[in-house]
Amino acid sequence: MQTTSELDFRQISWRTYKKKAVNEIVAELGNKDIISTDDEDLKTHGYSEWSTVNLDTLPVAVAYPRTTEDVAAIARICHKYRVPLIPFSGGTSLEGNFSAPYGGVSVDFAFMDRILQFNKDDMDVVVQPSIGWQDLNQKLANMDAGLFFPVDPGPTAKIGGMIGTNCSGTNAVRYGTMKDWVINLTVVLADGRVIKTRRRPRKSSAGYNLNGLFVGSEGTLGIVTEATLKLAVIPETYSVGVVSFPTIREAAAAAAGVMRAGVPVACMEIMDDVQMRVVNLSGSTAPRTWKELPTLFFKFSGSKASVAENISTVQAITSRNGGEDFEFAKDEREQKLLWSARKESLWSMLALRKNDEDVWSTDVAVPLSRLADLIEVSKKEMDSLGMFASILGHIGDGNFHESIMYNKNDPQELEKVERCVHNMVNRALNMEGTCTGEHSIGWGKKESLLKELGQETVDVMAMIKQSLDPRWILNPGKIMDVPWLPKETHATKADVAVTPIRRLTKQRASE
Ligand SMILES: Cc1cc2nc3c(=O)[nH]c(=O)nc-3n(C[C@H](O)[C@H](O)[C@H](O)COP(=O)(O)OP(=O)(O)OC[C@H]3O[C@@H](n4cnc5c(N)ncnc54)[C@H](O)[C@@H]3O)c2cc1C
Repeated sequence: MQTTSELDFRQISWRTYKKKAVNEIVAELGNKDIISTDDEDLKTHGYSEWSTVNLDTLPVAVAYPRTTEDVAAIARICHKYRVPLIPFSGGTSLEGNFSAPYGGVSVDFAFMDRILQFNKDDMDVVVQPSIGWQDLNQKLANMDAGLFFPVDPGPTAKIGGMIGTNCSGTNAVRYGTMKDWVINLTVVLADGRVIKTRRRPRKSSAGYNLNGLFVGSEGTLGIVTEATLKLAVIPETYSVGVVSFPTIREAAAAAAGVMRAGVPVACMEIMDDVQMRVVNLSGSTAPRTWKELPTLFFKFSGSKASVAENISTVQAITSRNGGEDFEFAKDEREQKLLWSARKESLWSMLALRKNDEDVWSTDVAVPLSRLADLIEVSKKEMDSLGMFASILGHIGDGNFHESIMYNKNDPQELEKVERCVHNMVNRALNMEGTCTGEHSIGWGKKESLLKELGQETVDVMAMIKQSLDPRWILNPGKIMDVPWLPKETHATKADVAVTPIRRLTKQRASE
């Protein structure tokens, strides 16, 4: 690794490079619509109201490629001019993952949203990055495929970003996370070369596992333009049940008991009393309302006999842990309402904001046996803030989220929230946990990553980045700092691109 003293950055007027890079992209692709510099477009591609962190910079342009070849050309040109490239799919990530600290071009795949190949007999599908997981499942249902894609993060998330964050969701306890469903990727590298990571069998031990490298790399190593994904068989039947508990510790202990008993639940989610109140207030399951107590949500799936057996085992475990009145959704409509109340809980919370309020929503994960301790202490600290704050999470994976409403213009409130989140992360790390179970690092959790894995491990990540993207143009500043840029350099004006390049000579240093 080069040291900071050998390296530096220089600011390049975007006006100089905009003309060159944008004109060259338009000339090469022969389509003016491929690039937008519209202010609103720049804002939606650099700012997110549900992200824990937003920067005072925006991308300087948004590119809308139609094909892998378009993406390769954009990368080649941006590589030549050392302009940062930030892939953008659904824009639902939560840790400033697609923010533009050094300006650059956001690459939005909105026009690359098709199923390219459906191999029903092989139970796989080849898709472009901008197809949403919900749209994919709707299309599979329309084809009467009997198959579905089980990874379910934010409702409007898309496959490219889901690969970027190695996301999961409520189904992960049964089906695993995004990395488990990727067979093969087509990836455009920083300099415009195009590679495929594998062919199409469901397993392969040929060479390095490049899928494992690109999944979760947050657009910092390559740009995914096609993905071959495994599909799962739709279970014969579903049932959704809800059970409340006097305390969050008892709810967490019941969840751990279900996991240790080896019951193959399809989903197991926790919501605290505050989050249940949010569901009631949002009216999203009206006319039905719920007890405002710590609650576990279960989804059971499989054959009718196996579902009945799993329900009875879970009922026994929850009642041993203080669970009251197991209630079931009456019909399919109620099942959907109940589940969407869980999936949209963040939006329900956002809908309750007043004036300048924001919601800080972040996650950690710990080994199962530590979950009850972690949740109980974190909940106590959150309640002592005197702010509207809730806990919810994918408890079967030892993964939970804190969501805290605060006034972003009040420095004291901001400081309180930051401290509370840091304490939660530190507690999780002290319990051999991780600073993020599914939201990834982005801009917001770089220091936590360093604490979690240590400098040497992060240096190995930087070496991989360096060898695949020597000019650090791919989503720079995410996961780890650009080694030769001081942290404060992201505070540039939107019309200036700071390219993360090295100062070549001493003379240049004074330019
Ligand atoms: C209401 C709500 C609920 C949520 N629930 C969950 C949940 O249950 N589980 C969970 O895991 N997450 C959840 N999230 C977070 C979010 O949905 C996930 O992080 C999701 O994976 C992001 O997908 P996206 O398409 O929105 O990605 P984006 O936000 O567009 O991008 C995410 C990252 O991937 C990179 N990227 C995007 N496209 C590509 C590409 N083609 N090639 C390479 N890199 C790319 C981006 O540069 C960025 O770093 C939730 C969010 C919301 C708003």
